[in-house]
Amino acid sequence: MGVIQELDTQLTNMIAAGEVVERPMGIVKELVENAIDAQATRIDITVQQGGIQSIQIVDNGAGMDGEDATKAFQRHATSKIKKTQDLWSIKTLGFRGEALPSIASVSNVVLETNNSVQSTRVEIQYGQLISAKPFPCNQGTMIQVSGLFLKTPARLKHLKSVPYENSLISDVVQKFALSHPEIAFSLTSDGKQSFKTSGSNDLLEVVFQLYGKDIAKNSIVIDDGDADYKIKGICVHPQFTRATRNAISVFLNGRMVRPYRIQKAITDSYSNYIPNDRYPIVVLDITMDSQLVDVNVHPSKWEVRLSKEQQLEYLLRELIPSAIGNHIQAPLVNMERVVKEKIEVQSLFEEPIVKPLVIKEETKEPVYVADEKITQVVEKIETIIPIEIKEEVIRPLPKKEFPRLRIVGQMHGKYILCEGDEGLYIVDQHAAQERVHYEQFLNEMENTKHTMTSCLVPHMLHTSNDLVRRVDEINDAVVSLGIVFEVFGDDSLIVRELPIWLHDIEVEVFLQDLIDIFKNDTEISKSKIRKHEIATMACHHSIRFNRILNETEMNEVITQLAECEQPYHCPHGRPTFICIDAGRLEKEFYR
Ligand code: ADP
Ligand code: MG
Repeated sequence: MGVIQELDTQLTNMIAAGEVVERPMGIVKELVENAIDAQATRIDITVQQGGIQSIQIVDNGAGMDGEDATKAFQRHATSKIKKTQDLWSIKTLGFRGEALPSIASVSNVVLETNNSVQSTRVEIQYGQLISAKPFPCNQGTMIQVSGLFLKTPARLKHLKSVPYENSLISDVVQKFALSHPEIAFSLTSDGKQSFKTSGSNDLLEVVFQLYGKDIAKNSIVIDDGDADYKIKGICVHPQFTRATRNAISVFLNGRMVRPYRIQKAITDSYSNYIPNDRYPIVVLDITMDSQLVDVNVHPSKWEVRLSKEQQLEYLLRELIPSAIGNHIQAPLVNMERVVKEKIEVQSLFEEPIVKPLVIKEETKEPVYVADEKITQVVEKIETIIPIEIKEEVIRPLPKKEFPRLRIVGQMHGKYILCEGDEGLYIVDQHAAQERVHYEQFLNEMENTKHTMTSCLVPHMLHTSNDLVRRVDEINDAVVSLGIVFEVFGDDSLIVRELPIWLHDIEVEVFLQDLIDIFKNDTEISKSKIRKHEIATMACHHSIRFNRILNETEMNEVITQLAECEQPYHCPHGRPTFICIDAGRLEKEFYR
């Protein structure tokens, strides 16, 4: 007799649960998606102990009748698709009919639902239907999940700390709130409300709730697109950055996804303005014909395939830089903000994934609280900041001209101090010259890139065997610089000729730097290489940070900077100058 047998339903559901509901955050995601698909306008999420103890989602959506309330827990039971063709144009967030049976196979589930005709309560324990009966409840659906993974200890062990699970849940709910500003969301963890949105369909208001007033005020509204893609959302001024990619939220047809290439197009678009290790805050809602996107890639639905992805990438690479380029100016120094950020940096290694805005009891002042710290500061939290958005917050940012500056002196051999109409300007002399040289070298390279000189002695670079094997790929990426690497043994490369624009630098250090980029990064764009190398050269050529300058030299720095195309940031993305506005100074002196 054969040894193969068909697995029973409970076992197949548990196997599916491994993919669909890996951790509490995944459950929250699936259940909120169901509520959105049910046309809810209000969704309240309550979790205990990072969702490990319990998760409750209440919506005011369509609800289900008595029959569907139990059918919903059968594998591959869905109201969202019916035939094969439907799979190629999915308009709902769910379609696989897997979430509810998977969740119910690894937890206790209570469902109460009312479709305005029938009102029902269903209870299921680890895949066993305990009861299903009429029960009075409000229009919509309440689903409660508890005792998660108690019967799957390996999975339970895999969960991290309560604050960590909480931060993932908070992050996913925030993303829902950003992708659906028309729905009122609230999230409560262990009895404390983390945040809520009003459902007024105003994205800036949600941004204000989640990221605070400064960010809402510095949001550049995007509403553009082409024949295939419609792009709406906000790009926050590059003065505000994050340590992780987490604040880049991209939604495709209202679905939260992690599209690597789209994210990269966004970070690349900001790369002229922000340091390498920082990331922008962006919320983009991209809509397209549902036939252009395949969402049936993975059970957790985080991935999608776009049939015209490159077109979308190009569109973003054009749209975002022009939107932010129009709003770049010298960052205004907000003294209070600087102090607060300092406190955070000291207390955390990495920037937290999410930062709810809360009000401190003692001072009544809004502060950002790092998620990991929530448990330690909850006692201090009194109220969630009320939803209140002033006109000024939504006013579009004006395009800024380079300010007229008059030099008043130099400080510590590092900064050039100037006065201008708005206040006191402090110019970082090194960063300013880096920008000037960067643009000069870029021009020079464009004009002379094919003029080469032979090296007297070839430059030899020791590197790894792995990089030697990637020599063709490396040469392909650096071809626009006019540099060609040749293989020299198992772990060395040599360069025999150099373009003339590469002058007065330590060539070997420069070449080694160039090779090192490939060590750390497997996928490198040509523009990134070019930018990096020219920036390195510009840095080597610029006046040191500790040098006393005379007035003529200072004037030259400022005049040249004013002529730059992008004068506000050095090529590494740091500001070239900042401004302390006059009004602020007056306040400091109690005038
Ligand atoms: P899917 O969302 O892929 O269809 P699920 O297992 O998540 O699969 O849900 C199964 C079905 O249960 C859904 O198709 C829907 O008809 C119903 N359902 C689930 N949650 C809700 C809800 N909150 N409100 C109304 N109907 C729901
Ligand atoms: Mg679903």
